Amino acid sequence: MAKKKVIKRSWAEPFKIKVVEPIKMTTREYREKAAKKAGYNTFLLKSEDVYIDLLTDSGTNAMSDYQWAGMMIGDEAYAGSKNFYYLWDNVKKYYGMPYMVPTHQGRAAEHILSQILIKSGDYIPGNMYFTTTRLHQELAGGTFVDVIIDEAHQAQKEHPFKGNIDLQKLDDLIKKVGAKKIPYVSMAGPVNMAGGQPFSMANLKEVRKLTKKHGIKLYFDATRACENAYFIKVREKGYANKSIAQILKEMCSYFDGLWVSAKKDLMVNIGGFLATRSKKVFEAARNMVVVYEGLHTYGGLAGRDMEAMARGIEEMVDFDNIRARIGQVEYAGKRLAEFGVPFVKPVGGHAIFLDAKRFLPHIPQEEFPAQTLAAEIYIDSGVRGMERGIVSAGRDPKTGKNRHPKLELVRLTFPRRVYTQAHIDVMVESVASVYQDRKKIKGLKMIYEPKYLRFFQARFDRL
Ligand SMILES: *Cc1c(COP(=O)(O)O)cnc(C)c1O
Repeated sequence: MAKKKVIKRSWAEPFKIKVVEPIKMTTREYREKAAKKAGYNTFLLKSEDVYIDLLTDSGTNAMSDYQWAGMMIGDEAYAGSKNFYYLWDNVKKYYGMPYMVPTHQGRAAEHILSQILIKSGDYIPGNMYFTTTRLHQELAGGTFVDVIIDEAHQAQKEHPFKGNIDLQKLDDLIKKVGAKKIPYVSMAGPVNMAGGQPFSMANLKEVRKLTKKHGIKLYFDATRACENAYFIKVREKGYANKSIAQILKEMCSYFDGLWVSAKKDLMVNIGGFLATRSKKVFEAARNMVVVYEGLHTYGGLAGRDMEAMARGIEEMVDFDNIRARIGQVEYAGKRLAEFGVPFVKPVGGHAIFLDAKRFLPHIPQEEFPAQTLAAEIYIDSGVRGMERGIVSAGRDPKTGKNRHPKLELVRLTFPRRVYTQAHIDVMVESVASVYQDRKKIKGLKMIYEPKYLRFFQARFDRL
């Protein structure tokens, strides 16, 4: 009898499309002009001039009909709306944190937490920096110290948990500056700037042990916690049969508190929160929220926003949902590899990070290879990504000198539930075409530099 061919069964999205938003199709000449007008900074492009928008997965999600239905039952009372209590209940239920204050987005929670916990002269160790996180730590008088494992800085190095903290580095810092100068360790997962790389549960437990020994608090940037939980489930021994919700709850159990930008995992367009086990931190945060965000029962959000967040929490822990999301990123990585395009490996949870140093080896870091590559891809096809390299790294606040990150990346980030596999194919083909013609590409010079988070508004011209 002839042997039956094994037919591999593909996964597909656990949802179908009910509403569509038409997008503008443009020509190369049109995009040349648009890029020049935007100072070759993809942040300054008009969204209507973009065909496939992979700038960020922040707030660009498609909400479900369940979330939209929730928007209609927003309780817009100034104080104590029922949506706030529903959100709080779900934060307790899924993150296991007793106290919560809503904020208008993630950085507002970072601002409040940094101001409460950090004193001038403190050090805050973290597994690689995130732009807004580090800035708020610095504005509070702290110094961020990167204690991520070395592998995280090596784009071509394969490691299942590149987001892990190097315990030796953390221990050395504690010995050097003393535990009293470290208000908390700041741990994120997956680590955005390392290419969406997760930490393992084993590493988290070790970090907890070490911080506990020295009486140091441990806070979690849980913005992408479900993606991290997915990687633990599929990569770490002992977790294959646990649900995403169980893994999330276990992860959170090791932390003293956490903050979330709801614009990511929670699949909404705006929102965030700060959650903690500490009554003291909670009371202080509630006080600060009133000054900067709004009453502690809405924190700069409408009741309907909090309802969509609460419902988003329930949807984000669905395994099929998170598998479809990360599966789309993995599909893009597999196809890009077929064309020999250099990118950070393994592919992360939310994005493909093109390795601009290897993509454009003839362009020195001072001529912004990643900034250049992002602009070239936009001009080629209308696909918008963003620079994560020397422009994003900014200047050292003490010396005023440019920081020179080891990684020079272009991030192509996947909005949740927004684009189809055909869109991803177009993106892959465009990146492959630019790669084919890479030798003709020249670098950029910066002609305008804002003081804070310069990557958002800096302008460039072609050399
Ligand atoms: C997006 C993000 C933030 C900041 O949140 P905003 O809602 O953009 O203010 C912080 N940390 C991580 C890991 C993020 O992805």
